[in-house]
Parts: sequence; C-alpha cells; structure tokens
Amino acid sequence: MKVWVNGSICDAASACVSVLDHGLLYGDGVFEGLRVREGRVFALDRHMKRLGIGLKALSLNANVTHLREVVLSTARAYAERNAYLRLIVTRGPGPLGVDPTTCENPTILCIAASLTIHPTEKLDVGLDLVTASMRRPAADVLDPRVKSLNYLNNAMAKLEACQRGADEALLLNSQGHVAEASVTNVFVVRDGWLLTPPASDGALEGITREAVIRLARDLDVVAREKTLTRFDLLGADEVFLTGTGAGLVPVRSLDKRPIGRQVPGPLFERFAAAYRELTATDGVPLA
Ligand code: PMP
Repeated sequence: MKVWVNGSICDAASACVSVLDHGLLYGDGVFEGLRVREGRVFALDRHMKRLGIGLKALSLNANVTHLREVVLSTARAYAERNAYLRLIVTRGPGPLGVDPTTCENPTILCIAASLTIHPTEKLDVGLDLVTASMRRPAADVLDPRVKSLNYLNNAMAKLEACQRGADEALLLNSQGHVAEASVTNVFVVRDGWLLTPPASDGALEGITREAVIRLARDLDVVAREKTLTRFDLLGADEVFLTGTGAGLVPVRSLDKRPIGRQVPGPLFERFAAAYRELTATDGVPLA
C-alpha cells in the first residue's frame, strides 16, 4: 500500500492525519474510488469531474488539476498494473466545533492498494441481497449524488446485510423506490431492456453505471433510467450491481427470493466481458 498525505508519499504504517481533522470528526469531506487496470487509470477525468462537483457542493476549495496529479503520482509510486485508488479531500484540521469556516487547509489523501469487495466465487453464483430497513437520505437531507465522507447510511445498510446473512443491502428511498446498493448501482434486465434508477431516486451517478449505459449502445441493448421498486427486481430476468470497487456483479436473490432463471444471466455476461475489455484498454496510462 502507498499513501499520499499532504504532499508526500509513504507506506500506510507511517501515514498520519490530525485527530482534529474535520473529515474524521464530522465526515466533512469528499472522496473518489478509482481503478488502475493493466497500467491505466480508468475514467480518471470522469472521476475528477464528479469530485469537483462534490467539492463545490461542500464549498471546499481544492485544486482539481492538482488532485488529478496526486492520483497519478500515488498510482505510479504503488507501481502495480492493477490497483484500487482512494482519493480523499477533507475539510482539514481545525478547532473541535463543527464550523467548517474554522478549518484553513483541506487534507489531501490518496491510498493505492489492492481491493476485492466480493470473492470470485460470488461472481460465479451471484449475490444475495436484503432490503435494508434504513432508507437512503433524500436529496434535501444529504444528497446521495455527493460522494461525501458521510457513509454511515451505507455502512449501517451493509452491517444489516451481514447480520441477516446476505452479501449486500438494497436501499430504497423514502418513497419506497429503489435507490442503489450500499456501494453499487443497481441494474435490472427485463425483456432485453436494461433499466436503472435515476439519480433523483437516491443513486450516486456511478462512473461504472455510466460506462455500462454507454456500452449498451455498442451491444445493441436499450438502456433507460427508470424508477424501480422491489417488485421490478423480483420479477426481473436479471439483476446486477455496478461499482468501481466491486466491478459488475450478478444478483441471485432478494430477501431470500430467487431472481431470474439463470445467474449470471446472458446479458450480464455480455456486459461483464465488454466492461473488462473497456477497462483494460481505456484510461490514462501510468507509464
Ligand atoms: N453508489 C455508492 C453509494 C457508491 O459508494 C459507489 C461507489 N463509488 C457506487 C454507487 C458506484 O459508483 P462508481 O461506479 O463510480 O464506483
């Protein structure tokens, strides 16, 4: 593991941040998760754009061009052809009170490491999902489109999934519509169509989600954003999840009820192959 901390790169054991950092004290900050595949950082500029929007939403001043360089430098220092990168920008250290205006300098961190979210065996058989009892916060509470350091809602949903013996949690919004899973977007295949909830239903505008929607054109599949309910998942031909960390992952059940006839489904297999090919050949080269 290699870590960038405020201007220098070190090993994880010697990476330090202040206990007064408002990222730690209040979850005040934003982050991105990126992948290096075959020596290329996939969708680097898309990630930087989303981060830039998040920084603006939080009125956090940090130079996105510099942050892009931080990502590349950390990835180069890690020197692995395949890696996960976590870029974090916090409000920085300040007095104990919540007031963000008391923090003078944001903290910039970047972690390069390996990450496996679901073991390969799970990719072969599909994940078991449970519907989380906790709802996704509404956009006027804490906009899920901002990838903020406030992941308590996601962490509690994942904890509930683990406690109930499942692999992942499905999060609904306060209207009961599907928002997303704890760290992934949700796709449903029905009669050859590919459907995913709009961001306004509580989903992060996932970079992998966007790549899958683009790939649909090449694969001659109609992809649409559509408000979905649990009913749509239970009656789907296929369901799968997407995320930078997790990749494309098939789902085999929701609340102990089986989904689809074949897992992984035929459309999933086509998208997974196309995504593998895309991420191995597209992206900003490290060398
Ligand atoms: N939703 C949430 C809540 C996430 O944390 C993630 C992971 N970043 C995703 C969806 C998937 O987004 P992406 O494809 O950009 O990784």
